[in-house]
Amino acid sequence: MSSILQADVYVSSRLPIAIKRLGETSSFSPISCTLIHGDEGAVLVDTPISISQTEDLVSWIKRTAPGKELRYVYITHGHGDHWFGITILRKHWPNLRALATPGTVEHMKEQLQPGILKGTWLTLFPGNQIPQPLELAEPMDEPVFKLEGHAFRAIEVGHTDTYNTTVLHVPSIRLVVAGDAVYGDVHQFFGEANTSEKRNEWLRALDTIEALDPHTVIAGHKRAGTVDGLFNLQKTRQYILDFEDAVRSASNWKELVGDIQRRYPNRINPHAILRGALAAIPEAKASSKV
Ligand SMILES: [Zn+2]
Repeated sequence: MSSILQADVYVSSRLPIAIKRLGETSSFSPISCTLIHGDEGAVLVDTPISISQTEDLVSWIKRTAPGKELRYVYITHGHGDHWFGITILRKHWPNLRALATPGTVEHMKEQLQPGILKGTWLTLFPGNQIPQPLELAEPMDEPVFKLEGHAFRAIEVGHTDTYNTTVLHVPSIRLVVAGDAVYGDVHQFFGEANTSEKRNEWLRALDTIEALDPHTVIAGHKRAGTVDGLFNLQKTRQYILDFEDAVRSASNWKELVGDIQRRYPNRINPHAILRGALAAIPEAKASSKV
């Protein structure tokens, strides 16, 4: 008889960002890491960014699933805020396998290019906060792996808040760990989903997740304490539709920021709106419109 899986969600601290945005200091969105465990083994989905965040996650895993071996960490997509911690996990679980789809692994490699690693990540989080050297995941030959007889399936969902994104589906407990395809009460990042076409692809990704008929959907960035219900799908969809509507009516990026802030006064990390607004309505274009 196979085990019954259970799952727990760790929500990271918000890492302070070294550069000011709009003249204000800010912090990165909280990151969720999901632990799915059976009788003896465990699977983690995604890691946080920094050494200290990941050490905190390691202590939480050891408290949450004592005596269980972390066999796999699955990475949902290539953005560094979901995998930079692999290096730290490796110190604690030397036999751990870090897995991702080939598309995600390619994206991870791209994040290591100097323009992105130095230009973005090490600028936002300087002073040896990010582990070095960064360990990549291995590309999966087939989109499934198993723990104690249970299948874990990587589902490609295309462009959501970035390209080549996936979710992890665990059919035996009707769980979807959605990475950044789904957000939980945190402002959604439209810095890369900067056209209606890409945002429509994101909407289709939500349909794909819904079609898996899950009972639990865990958002990649979420407010700790929020239940991981299907409403996360509905709210993520509504936010995309609202952003689309706000882009249509705004004549410059500042108006767009103001509109989203008015529609969503309580979501975490309002600074995320800025990147999306600037990508949707770049300054040069905006000035010709004003
Ligand atoms: Zn993210």
